Amino acid sequence: MKTILTGDRPTGKLHLGHYVGSLRERVKLQNSGEYDKIFIMIADAQALTDHADNPAAVRENILNVALDYLSVGLNPEKSTIFIQSQIPALFELTAYYLNLVTVSRLERNPTVKNEIAQKNFETSIPAGFLCYPVSQAADITAFDANVVPVGEDQAPMLEQAREIVRKMNELYGEVLIEPNIFLSSNETCRRLPGIDGKAKMSKTLGNCIYLSDDSKTLAAKVKEMYTDPLHIKVSDPGHIEGNVVFTYLDAFCEDKKTVAEMKEHYQRGGLGDVKVKKFLLEVLEEILTPIRDRRAEYENNPDEVMKILKAGTAVANEKADEVLKRVKNAMKINYFD
Ligand code: ATP
Ligand code: MG
Repeated sequence: MKTILTGDRPTGKLHLGHYVGSLRERVKLQNSGEYDKIFIMIADAQALTDHADNPAAVRENILNVALDYLSVGLNPEKSTIFIQSQIPALFELTAYYLNLVTVSRLERNPTVKNEIAQKNFETSIPAGFLCYPVSQAADITAFDANVVPVGEDQAPMLEQAREIVRKMNELYGEVLIEPNIFLSSNETCRRLPGIDGKAKMSKTLGNCIYLSDDSKTLAAKVKEMYTDPLHIKVSDPGHIEGNVVFTYLDAFCEDKKTVAEMKEHYQRGGLGDVKVKKFLLEVLEEILTPIRDRRAEYENNPDEVMKILKAGTAVANEKADEVLKRVKNAMKINYFD
């Protein structure tokens, strides 16, 4: 069996980082026909670990994320789209997995460490936030997923999940399936930088181009994109390292030959930022136009989108309950069976 699980936090609309890091891969895998089951989760419970004070925003973003999914081509006939908080088995599994993880191991997780610093949690870290990698292990294993298409920032979560699986299997017999991370083959896509040049495009950092941005917003964002601050006159030789416009061309432009020529010209001098940005805008428009068109089909029909989520959640519950039962049997806590 080849099973995929992946998902996103409903903390905002999805952006180009999500697209190249995970969404585009999911759609490809979905359409490859090579997978028996595909589970796509809207991680609202995880979003609440650092947004407990704003459940309304999390609720509102469920629909935004679902619309983004349908817009990029996730197909509910082929992929099960569901809402995390509505799957009770996930929280039971998390409780058991927590016994197999130390607090110091969680504190060492580099992504969590980074996020704690970014969110200024300092010493007041919500316990649920510190433990979200454990709940992620539950999300993955509850569906017997062996393939998890995510961005590079998720590598430590996958490692944590694998450790938990090994520990469970060691203690209770071969009960869980060990998952593998699936990263984009294009290295630039594994962690797309923000339009401000910061290491990661992220909702929290507010440096995003959203899949739902209209043409005008997109053009304005490309215009303000970080390039080479030393490239002042068109004739100046420019740098392409850390120059977001070229990074995005590497991530989005299929025509690698043209990109290579442009890079060479830019470094030699004589190619202006305005021209490179114009080309990038064309490339992005070509990608976003069909996504916007598909969005328009669903946007005015939120009831239909909620129906898709409800149906997906029912399917997901069935599978997660089956796995939970297996785990409880293995742990010998099946008293009334
Ligand atoms: P938040 O700030 O709420 O954490 P986020 O932008 O980091 O939001 P998530 O919902 O945490 O988004 O991430 C969902 C998925 O998208 C994960 O697989 C993550 O690795 C991937 N992802 C997010 N941002 C990027 C990026 N800039 N480049 C590549 N992949 C990304
Ligand atoms: Mg994140």
